[in-house]
Amino acid sequence: MPSAALRAIPKVDLLLRRAEAVPDLSSAPRVHLLAAIRRALAELRRDLLTGRLADVPAPESLLAAVRGHLAEETAHRLRPVVNATGVVLHTNLGRSVLGQAVAARVAEVAAAYSNLEYDPQAGERVSRQAHVESLLTRLTGGAAALAVNNNAAALLLAMTAVCGGLEAVVSRGELVEIGDSFRLPEILAQGGVVLREVGTTNKTTLADYAGAIAPGRSGCLLKIHPSNFRLIGYTHKPTVAELAALASARGLPLICDLGSGAVGLDMPGEPEPAEALAAGADLVCFSGDKLLGGPQAGLLVGRAELVARLRVHPLARALRIDKLCLAALEATLRLHLDPDRARRDIPTLAMLTIEDGELRARAETLRTALADAAPALQLAVVEVEGQAGGGAAPEYPLPSWAVAVTHPRLSAERLDAALRRGEPPVVGRLHRERLLLDVRTIRPDQLAILAGAAAALEDLTGQELI
Ligand SMILES: *Cc1c(COP(=O)(O)O)cnc(C)c1O
Repeated sequence: MPSAALRAIPKVDLLLRRAEAVPDLSSAPRVHLLAAIRRALAELRRDLLTGRLADVPAPESLLAAVRGHLAEETAHRLRPVVNATGVVLHTNLGRSVLGQAVAARVAEVAAAYSNLEYDPQAGERVSRQAHVESLLTRLTGGAAALAVNNNAAALLLAMTAVCGGLEAVVSRGELVEIGDSFRLPEILAQGGVVLREVGTTNKTTLADYAGAIAPGRSGCLLKIHPSNFRLIGYTHKPTVAELAALASARGLPLICDLGSGAVGLDMPGEPEPAEALAAGADLVCFSGDKLLGGPQAGLLVGRAELVARLRVHPLARALRIDKLCLAALEATLRLHLDPDRARRDIPTLAMLTIEDGELRARAETLRTALADAAPALQLAVVEVEGQAGGGAAPEYPLPSWAVAVTHPRLSAERLDAALRRGEPPVVGRLHRERLLLDVRTIRPDQLAILAGAAAALEDLTGQELI
């Protein structure tokens, strides 16, 4: 044990004084600088104890360690990344991106007091729902609407308020896990809803539903859109219209969880809220940040008396939407009133509908920019299969264009890791020993970031290989 070396570890104060003599360190906020110094000293103590270091290094290299820790201390953890995966609704990368105008609305409302629950003209308290309800009913044709924190919350609220303590009749083929080990049956069990499973995994008939309905025991018919998987082949399930007719004949509501909620986006296999309501669904719910392209939210639309029951349920308060999401939701829904504008100004919709030729042209532009920045890279424009993501239309690949990146001396994994560790991180996709940068999800104004990241890859080759 090099106790002499341990005793030579400088005190925090001493290192602080030295750091304060260096301009870039002294300008850092004191809390971060102190934390960085403590981390550097703790690391030094550990290295001396484990024998990784025999002696206390010179002050300059201690300050270099402090500088490294300071960068981590001062960086925000939650920060933008460049999505080069081509997956538009990438759950791990934050699903929908808000457009500039919508984000600006959020910033404006966030930085001021607002009429969140107040009508300035009447001088009275009003519901925060007033800001979005009429937009939601206009866009879907429903009679009333309610926005909550997210779609899982919307479904929990609907089922608890309408069906709590009773049975929800649902097809075995629809009891899905929505990702992150989150299973809809388990969420519903929290609301005291008993699921009455009918049919089989691949086939459920109207008669299966009818046979399971019992007066006083059944609370609703439930239809869940199996977002992230598809049954193909020998399958059957009743349509919304058939289920609605049965539900209405037996005096029960039909509740539909539509998942991604494609509004004004003709996406095969993705049910539109307006269609489900027109077909007779009594209540539908869907996410705000999937195909709607807005903020995280759960949207409930349907018959007025059902929505009124949801509104006064205690869970509605626990699951309520926050004001920033509400600001983003209102602005997004306003864009949806004009479908052309929606496709232009809502990034999710814009990215999903970019023309093939435009994607190819963007890939060529990206290839040229990368080639200029990093001549050693081997670059090819290739056709790839992307995905909508977010559980939307999983059976339809989204053909796209990408720049495939390889390097004579660096593996694709190494290139990928280097880009992910850059600032901002660039997340691409590895495929057959190549790193693919799919242009569908790359904003044209991010070209310079990618060129910078490519140039940094060049510098790597001077260091460690493969
Ligand atoms: C995505 C999804 C949910 C959950 O929505 P969140 O907004 O993530 O809470 C629930 N049901 C279905 C069918 C889904 O696709």
